[in-house]
Amino acid sequence: MWSTFASSGPVQFSLRFIGIYLIALYLAMVFWTVRDAQQRTENQWLPYVAGAMVVVLNVLGLFIYLIVRPRETLHEAYERQLAEESLLGEAERRVVCPSCKERVDDEFLLCPTCRTRLKRRCPSCAKLIKPEWNICPFCAKDFDERDWTVHAGGKAAD
Ligand SMILES: [Zn+2]
Ligand SMILES: [Zn+2]
Repeated sequence: MWSTFASSGPVQFSLRFIGIYLIALYLAMVFWTVRDAQQRTENQWLPYVAGAMVVVLNVLGLFIYLIVRPRETLHEAYERQLAEESLLGEAERRVVCPSCKERVDDEFLLCPTCRTRLKRRCPSCAKLIKPEWNICPFCAKDFDERDWTVHAGGKAAD
């Protein structure tokens, strides 16, 4: 009775369908593992090792892979690295007085601690510029040495 049931048309069709479904699921699992591993490691063969593990161990292999896989994808690691570098850059941009190394504001003309000349005002457009610049980047005024009472990097005249 079981054989007549099993060989009947609809049952045969259902079994074949389930078989194809399981094979597709199995292949998708292997494919997904290889692709996912490729996004998480620069190693050429590790993704295929992970894929082979899923081929052999099936769902168990997939579980093992999910446990041991790198936490971050390469893209996420790259983004994190960029964020860290921009934080470092910000720390480096913090301005200190070249003479006494006290923190100063980017807008300060003089160091409030040691009176070192930090910035000048362009005599032409009044924008803040560095003392060592000999041309104003804002209004393109070419400075003559005579325009300066204090030389670049020197202390402010009393
Ligand atoms: Zn200073
Ligand atoms: Zn200027």
